[in-house]
Amino acid sequence: MSGLQFDLHTHSTASDGSLAPAELVQRAAACGIGVLALTDHDQTAGLSEAARAAREAGIEFVPGIELSVTWSHQTFHIVGLGIDPGCASLQAGIERISAFRHWRAEEIDRRLAKKGIHGALDGARGYAKGAILSRTHFAHYLVAQGHARDLRQVFKRFLVRNKPGYVPGEWASLEDGLAWIQEAGGLAVIAHPARYKISATRLRQLLKEFRELGGVGLEVVSGSHSRDDIISMANLSRRHDLVASAGSDYHGPENPYLGLGRLPTLPAECQPVWEHPDWGVTHNLG
Ligand code: AMP
Ligand code: MN
Ligand code: MN
Ligand code: MN
Repeated sequence: MSGLQFDLHTHSTASDGSLAPAELVQRAAACGIGVLALTDHDQTAGLSEAARAAREAGIEFVPGIELSVTWSHQTFHIVGLGIDPGCASLQAGIERISAFRHWRAEEIDRRLAKKGIHGALDGARGYAKGAILSRTHFAHYLVAQGHARDLRQVFKRFLVRNKPGYVPGEWASLEDGLAWIQEAGGLAVIAHPARYKISATRLRQLLKEFRELGGVGLEVVSGSHSRDDIISMANLSRRHDLVASAGSDYHGPENPYLGLGRLPTLPAECQPVWEHPDWGVTHNLG
């Protein structure tokens, strides 16, 4: 397996990515990726299309998800790898998060309307095209309406804490999120760990609880990590006895971070998640 390029964190139009699942897989194969996970936010709807496309393209496919959880009043993302999307408790969890997303989208709309920005929900729905509603879809609409230059700026001005379109709220608990991933047969990995605004002490506390609840890995290599982030996350993963994952967090060609197939390799001292004893259980995705 060692010669293969792994990308274990990507998005499609089933959440806030801009490529359809099959298009994403074709592009990944063309970029030299040998093992690809699709990990849409709180959603598994793209997995069967992606699995089919991967069979045709001759690359290995890992069915995944990126779950939004709230731990100690802060949002964290947990990637589940090798999940069975047919798992009933996982789907019930997805339903719960979808209900929150739906309510939150209406609330974002109401808050933006108070600031004189009207039609944001309909606008966001136009970009989501029936997929789960994300802040990214609101961001695309606000940029198109001229409220900011690009996605980065629109988040900064409107969609983050203390800004007019920000809505606080509770995602799944860490405990529930990890239970759903494990019941679905998946391995849980903390996504882009260097990106959270969290003290070293609280991060250690999070990793300890995560591990106690059955979490196994840390995304040491991420499209949003610097070289220094990679080194410090590699050290942290070893100290906490967590395996290491690697994923671009690709959202499409206009992505502000890395393109596909350009991930740095995992530091040699890391234990890759694909060498975890429970890696590689495959599910029939039809
Ligand atoms: P949500 O899960 O709906 O709250 O939206 C979170 C998504 O917004 C993330 O997965 C990113 O894709 C996107 N996002 C968050 N912050 C930024 C940012 N500063 N610039 C661009 N996209 C962002
Ligand atoms: Mn996203
Ligand atoms: Mn994320
Ligand atoms: Mn992501």
